[in-house]
Amino acid sequence: MTAHPSSNPRSPYAVRKVRPVVRSFRAAFEANALAWVRAGGHAIVWASAKKAWLVVPKPAANNPEDYGKWAAYDLGRRKLLVASKGPFAGFGVVSLKGDDLPIVETWGIRDATHTTPTRAMSLDCVACGACCKNNNVVLDAADMKRLRSGAPKTFVDRVKRKDGRLVLTLLADGRCAALTKKGMCGVYDYRPEACREFPAGTECCLFAREEGLGIVDGARKGPALFGLSEFAEAR
Ligand code: SF4
Ligand code: SF4
Repeated sequence: MTAHPSSNPRSPYAVRKVRPVVRSFRAAFEANALAWVRAGGHAIVWASAKKAWLVVPKPAANNPEDYGKWAAYDLGRRKLLVASKGPFAGFGVVSLKGDDLPIVETWGIRDATHTTPTRAMSLDCVACGACCKNNNVVLDAADMKRLRSGAPKTFVDRVKRKDGRLVLTLLADGRCAALTKKGMCGVYDYRPEACREFPAGTECCLFAREEGLGIVDGARKGPALFGLSEFAEAR
């Protein structure tokens, strides 16, 4: 199978990222889960098929690429909470339920073939562009000022309001209006802060690549060590 060009480590634009491997644990194996997280991994600790926690290392201050924080954002949380008491005290924790559960289960399935708590991957954003499609890039006043200072007026004029906030316009096929046919950002020097901050290798990045390019990064098809669907049979 040929790897997607955006995974080519020899590309001059490739960046090497070391990201957490997501692993499922039953609550009875909580100590193993915490050891996994101490070693840099992310753990899903299942109390039942309907109740679980995502446990991640305590977020580092001022680290915009903190993978735990981005995992929480991907689950729709505004911030990652650090538990102050209980078994996960001192760790970043997201209490999971409902729609969260199948999402985190897919993370575990995707990462099932990785045997260590972290893994390295090469990502070439120039050859990828997946997060420049079907996104919702919110703009603030500073973004608008920067765009107006140099981006084509036709692009700036297309910025629209959605739910009371300014957002980048998507074309009918879901591509950002600034994305060129070659997959490059047409307003790179003036792009919004959200585009600058979006870190390669996060859950959000991997989701965009899977949805947009059909790439399941690094994973071969195989069962998770332990996931939601197995829980009912295994307990
Ligand atoms: S999804 Fe975005 S951040 Fe991730 S590799 Fe592609 S372009 Fe880079
Ligand atoms: S402005 Fe550029 S970086 Fe941001 S979504 Fe559009 S094409 Fe991608």
